[in-house]
Amino acid sequence: MQQQQSLADAVQYLPGVGPRRAQILAKLGVATVGDLLEYLPFRHECHQQRSIEDLEEGLVATVTGRINRVSSQLGRRGATVSATLLDNTGTCRLSWFNAGWMRDRLARGMVVRATGKVTAYEDLAQLVNPRIEVLGEDAGPADDSAPAEFEGVYPATAELSSRMIGRIISANLDRMLSGVQECHAPEHLSKRKLAPRRWALSVIHRPRKPDDVEAARRRLAYDELLLMQLAVTLARLRHREGPAAQAMRCRAAIDERIRRRFPFKLTSGQDRAIAEIMADLGTTRPMNRLLQGDVGCGKTVVALYAALATVANRCQVALMAPTELLAEQHYRSITQYLKGSRVRHALLVGGLRAAKRREILAGIAGGALDIVVGTHALIQKDVRFDRLGLVVVDEQHRFGVRQRATIRSKGPAPHYLVMTATPIPRTLAMTVFGDLDVTTIDELPPGRSKITTRVAGPREHQSTWRFVLSRVARGEQAFVVYPLIDESDKMAFRAATTEYRRLQEEVFTGHAVGLLHGRLSAEERDAGMRDFVSGKTAALVATTVIEVGIDVPNATCMVIEHAERYGLSQLHQLRGRIGRGRLAGHCFLLTDSAGGESNERLRALVETTDGFRIAEEDLRLRGPGEMLGTRQHGLPDLRVADLVRDAGLLRLAQQDAGEIVRADPSLGDARHGVLRGMLISRYRGRLSLLNVG
Ligand code: ADP
Ligand code: MG
Repeated sequence: MQQQQSLADAVQYLPGVGPRRAQILAKLGVATVGDLLEYLPFRHECHQQRSIEDLEEGLVATVTGRINRVSSQLGRRGATVSATLLDNTGTCRLSWFNAGWMRDRLARGMVVRATGKVTAYEDLAQLVNPRIEVLGEDAGPADDSAPAEFEGVYPATAELSSRMIGRIISANLDRMLSGVQECHAPEHLSKRKLAPRRWALSVIHRPRKPDDVEAARRRLAYDELLLMQLAVTLARLRHREGPAAQAMRCRAAIDERIRRRFPFKLTSGQDRAIAEIMADLGTTRPMNRLLQGDVGCGKTVVALYAALATVANRCQVALMAPTELLAEQHYRSITQYLKGSRVRHALLVGGLRAAKRREILAGIAGGALDIVVGTHALIQKDVRFDRLGLVVVDEQHRFGVRQRATIRSKGPAPHYLVMTATPIPRTLAMTVFGDLDVTTIDELPPGRSKITTRVAGPREHQSTWRFVLSRVARGEQAFVVYPLIDESDKMAFRAATTEYRRLQEEVFTGHAVGLLHGRLSAEERDAGMRDFVSGKTAALVATTVIEVGIDVPNATCMVIEHAERYGLSQLHQLRGRIGRGRLAGHCFLLTDSAGGESNERLRALVETTDGFRIAEEDLRLRGPGEMLGTRQHGLPDLRVADLVRDAGLLRLAQQDAGEIVRADPSLGDARHGVLRGMLISRYRGRLSLLNVG
């Protein structure tokens, strides 16, 4: 009988690996035998060995033959490399798009095995972007052992092909599988209709039939989601068991006093949000809550309510925003709401004069200040609070994990509220913010003027500019957004710096135009934004650096060039910068095509202004990584599970993780030993960071 393989062993010592390949594998994130076993194909190809004359369109086929002619062509979308391939029955064409490097891998006379989807090219059959395996130079067409009809395609690199990875895994699969232990009880597997883990891993690497692959994938996806939910649930639990917070009481008299501060009636969405937050603040368990809602739904007011309730309980509040401009805006609106009140507040930002700064720091430390609004300046070492009871972070994804942890450490156990205007679909919120409770405001205050959105193809560009100019001529303001700062040789895109000149000269003649992009220093950006806020500039040409929460009531128009280059959610965010006053907003999505798929996608924005519906659509079309920027939001990298397709499985995993942790909060129970090991190896150093929101 084979000895059991330890999955923790270094992969280097597996037969067929060795030091050189181990180095390459390490770059793919594969260090141990277990990593290799979990290095999974991202899809399976069912292909058939065919002779060239038998190729049929639509089939994924493998052809073995000799390369004849190789050529490459430079086009708009990069280099296209093509080659002709001959076998005893005919000639076909191989084409690689946007892959100039293929040119050097191919030579006349090579015998190769090519696998790809069959299309037609003139009167030849063509394989598009085929994977190839070189069988030899100048050998006769090799009658090598035919590849499996159904095989996995692994993420590969130039140094290690998918097929090579497949071979290494295949040669060691039985040995590696011997080290796999089942992590769920048989009753659980049958309750959730899950296949055994060892079987699933075996099938995913060495599939026999398509149905099996789906069952195997489902099992592995479940485990992946379960581990993620366990990590998140444990982090949440640890957070609850930490030091106690101050419970904030909010009697009716206080509630009334706070509401009197606002010159409008709160929307029912705001009321609901406040009720949820106050329920949290009322206990000694530190609140850990996300407040999400579209730009303009009134989150600041909700946060200010929580802040005033905290102040009424003789505690201090810190409100941190990602830029000086946003911090100032919060400070200004808070100042307005607090006119005539005894609540003392201050703005702490980077550029203060030393004496002013000292005065504010003393006020914070001595308890003379109740609410401090600021930027990163709030997390400097010398900022010490007397009794910090609540931390509010605006647009928290703009801050790093460490910064968020630092601001929270300014008090023994402050309540924590984060706000975001990036609507996150519920399925995603569960994973991104799994350790946060989520409050959603899904309505705007009444009387908001409407934003009309139009998709404008090339023939409507002229009329768009004429329209925007007519608004600017009336004294309204316009944003013009470009995807790029400079024009690039590689892509035929209009860009901010060059178009800025053209717009200034040809469109907005006689009006002041500003320019804003990411290569300017923070001060220059702030100054550019300020000029627009104050009305000094009538139009602002910018990349996407325009702040999310910026409030310019007089800005009514937004033109977004090359709109097809953005995600729907991003476009929705961008247009949230207009229509913030009494005047109706107009958003133009300029594209370079008159119709087609990308314009179709943009229609979603014309039809709805509901950020959540748009986010759902974006999630469906582009997947979570694209939609949110995986790194920025700390989305776990899922290898098997797909948050859209596996939403149902995710709910089960969440439920099961909750049950497991309730029964065995430290996962110390023997029956959870395997699961615990998997959790530790998957989340290694990251578990401790999970509980800082
Ligand atoms: P957010 O931070 O969610 O983008 P804000 O809190 O900045 O939104 O509110 C946007 C604007 O709406 C502000 O000018 C605010 O005064 C106003 N506002 C907030 N709540 C209400 C309400 N209930 N009724 C009317 N106007 C409101
Ligand atoms: Mg805001």
